Amino acid sequence: MNQMLVSDLLKQIRDPWLSRISHKMGRSEGGRELLLEELNRFFDLLIQAVESGDPGWLKSLLIDWASAQTETDLRDEEITLSPILSTIVIETTSAARAELTDPQVLDLLEELTPIFNYCYEQVTRHEALVRIGYISARLEKVQNELERLDKSKSDFIAVAAHELKTPLTLIEGYAAMLRDQVPEEDSSNAPFLLLKGVDNGIRRLGEIIDDMIDVSMIDNNMMSLNFQPTWLNRLLGVLEKELKAHVEERKQTLEIEQFPGIAEMIFADSERIFQCLRNVLTNSIKYTPNGGKITIDGRLLPGFVEILVTDTGIGIAEENQVRIFEKFGGLGNVSLHSSGKTKFKGGGPGLGLSITKGILDAHGGSIWVESEGYDEENLPGSTFHILIPLRKEPIDEAVAKLFKTSTDASQISD
Ligand code: ADP
Repeated sequence: MNQMLVSDLLKQIRDPWLSRISHKMGRSEGGRELLLEELNRFFDLLIQAVESGDPGWLKSLLIDWASAQTETDLRDEEITLSPILSTIVIETTSAARAELTDPQVLDLLEELTPIFNYCYEQVTRHEALVRIGYISARLEKVQNELERLDKSKSDFIAVAAHELKTPLTLIEGYAAMLRDQVPEEDSSNAPFLLLKGVDNGIRRLGEIIDDMIDVSMIDNNMMSLNFQPTWLNRLLGVLEKELKAHVEERKQTLEIEQFPGIAEMIFADSERIFQCLRNVLTNSIKYTPNGGKITIDGRLLPGFVEILVTDTGIGIAEENQVRIFEKFGGLGNVSLHSSGKTKFKGGGPGLGLSITKGILDAHGGSIWVESEGYDEENLPGSTFHILIPLRKEPIDEAVAKLFKTSTDASQISD
């Protein structure tokens, strides 16, 4: 059978083919006209493809069809084109069987099958591409929206912190004036005790505002570090003293092991590293019931010193082990919030660990937690891993000059 003959057979079924498909796809009057136009275009190209033996003639039409998916089709995940193609294939067979003899039908289908396969391949490929493009654009939109929300959250924190700072300074000033009026000798008198309460409140509020300022500095990459010789044993010694009363009040044990690296001199921002250790340690006290144990251990790794803070507390569910390092990561249950810094499960603004992570990231270090899960009865505990770069040289020359003699000192004990 030569090519000419097959295209003649095709032309012979054109009208019944058109009316079958347009009837089957039953559209409104305007839609039907458009459909007929497209079907005619398809049929003309199909004849070209048969005559030339090249299905590529249909490619641009199929791409047009695949790209014409509407926003609604894409949103509703409607499959639009492949069913049209299926109708075309089915109705071509039916029209051929109605209009032609059996051998002619066979000849025609033999010629059309690879062309239809090509059509399916093209349509599926391009529909997938359009869909992927649509999904990527939607993802990008969501991403932008999330970034915008995060930015407004961060702006809000910065503005709120500065707005709170002014009245707090006022309260602080008036409280100091009041203190001058209260005789200190008699420490059991009521005004003295009340003022002590006010002082505690001022201090706590000041800490929260400082945390808010730290978070916004980290968010805006504005945290500058003051690298200086730092010894972990010194920081941990000071911290142990600072937290002694809290640990005793909670009847807990705090054990600091003399791990390799604890007495090593490293260049770091000691104040900021102290802040990190304090955040992690106060959390360990807070989330461990009375009578529990907190151990600080560590080891030297190539280029880093790793500190391990392990507690026998309530532990952390796996799904929260990354989230707690995001800002407000601990704001799950507002009812748990209290002003007690080390009270059992005292809650808090949920900024401590995100600041800790920000500080360690800025140092080139990191922090993560390991825990078998959250269980208030069996107390699986948590281990926080803190990685600090073992920086032996100061970052800039001025600091290098300043600390020349101290860096030479091999070890300074507490
Ligand atoms: P806050 O303590 O103010 O809520 P943090 O950022 O310090 O905020 O901690 C975030 C959350 O991580 C806490 O609310 C708590 O759920 C969880 N968490 C932190 N440390 C521990 C710990 N040692 N044991 C159990 N949970 C902890």
